[in-house]
Amino acid sequence: MASDNKKKASDFRYNTGETRVPWAAVGENYNAEDVMEVIRFMMQGKGEEYDRIIADVQKDIFTLDKVSEPPAKLSLDNVVARAENMCDEYLHTTGSTFVTNCTAGFEIAYKYASLEPGDEVIVPAITFIATMAYPLSIGCKLVFADVDPLTLNMDPADVARKITDRTRMIVPVHIGGYPVDMDPIMKLAKEHNILVLEDAAHGFGGMYHGKMLGTIADFGAFSFHEVKNITSFGEGGILCTNIESFKSDMRRARFLGTDFSRKIKDWLYDVTACQGWKKPFVAGNASTTEIQGLGLCQQIKRIEEIIGARRACATYLNDRLKEAGDALSLQDLGNEDIKPTFHLYKLLVNPEKAGGDVQLLKKKLEARGVTNIPHFGPLYRFNIMQTYGYDEDAIAETCPNCEEVFYKRFTHFPVYGLTKEQVDYMADSILESVYEMQRGI
Ligand SMILES: *Cc1c(COP(=O)(O)O)cnc(C)c1O
Repeated sequence: MASDNKKKASDFRYNTGETRVPWAAVGENYNAEDVMEVIRFMMQGKGEEYDRIIADVQKDIFTLDKVSEPPAKLSLDNVVARAENMCDEYLHTTGSTFVTNCTAGFEIAYKYASLEPGDEVIVPAITFIATMAYPLSIGCKLVFADVDPLTLNMDPADVARKITDRTRMIVPVHIGGYPVDMDPIMKLAKEHNILVLEDAAHGFGGMYHGKMLGTIADFGAFSFHEVKNITSFGEGGILCTNIESFKSDMRRARFLGTDFSRKIKDWLYDVTACQGWKKPFVAGNASTTEIQGLGLCQQIKRIEEIIGARRACATYLNDRLKEAGDALSLQDLGNEDIKPTFHLYKLLVNPEKAGGDVQLLKKKLEARGVTNIPHFGPLYRFNIMQTYGYDEDAIAETCPNCEEVFYKRFTHFPVYGLTKEQVDYMADSILESVYEMQRGI
């Protein structure tokens, strides 16, 4: 018996009301020592001053522990609901669903689409593997749309060329948070009866023709992974849909199809299949914790500030880098109609004018200590595609812009959390490197 633990045990998944004998949601609650570890992790430091202050905090936390109670639930409860409501308000959606991560959100959308082996899914040639992992895993045929040479986003004209009568889905990705030209894609999808899933992993807070990114297509999923422009303690995602008939099922699809609006005899709930586009499907588990919910709520409050700081930094970089003239194509800052999130600052080198390609620029920047990693490569070049019988060179031939921009032109830079000195150093380094290249040094 936990006689030394005076904390009230919390109730299990279902609200059982006041009870003399509660059923603990967690075997052991987190205590003051555990909470201190979280504080030490979230607010790291070194040195005497840090140690002194941490000791004070520890004392206070242990005092607080004596008069506090543990949370009733740790998974899928009020805080997750609050985060979803905040998303709905911000995105002008209803029923948005907080999931483990963006990839898990995609899976729900893909399952809804009732994909069969051999069905074709069009994805951009440059993105992250998460975009297409699920259809690849179930034997769909991935078709790669070439990219727009300036935005690196899926080129709608190439999508049009690659649609066949087996095409079931199109998955545009707002790369770096710059909006894909969605109107022609949605038009094509309508004409051909194809579902569209927006990979808005970089797009939380961006806008296209008056609509928030991720809310334009049949589905949209956002990522709150730690590298994105907003995070929920390292992992998390939101799935949105415009398919009214699926809205009521979407949250059940996050947790194994459990249905609390029904009960089987002598039990608390029922489990029903989720109704997909053409057939029912079995849901997986993409549940989130209340702690993730808290993390998201806090960052949503600051999202305009976050994007504003990114925009300001990108604008400043553009001001500095325009000095290089047509040797460089700079990040498009958008306009009233197109609002990027500036998740990444995209820079394109024009090799004919810059005296060399991006690989040379990257070497020079690396030597100056400026990190420039193009996160995203041509997906068809990854080994996994060969494993599944794709011919990378044949695909490369159908994606000439992708080949050109990836190998010769594009890179990107961080635009958040940097000091003015760092941004200036980055701009100076880029300019100096280009001038060296132009002089053949
Ligand atoms: C990060 C990322 C994802 C996956 O997001 P997770 O939340 O990590 O699952 C999907 N697509 C793109 C383009 C990404 O960069």
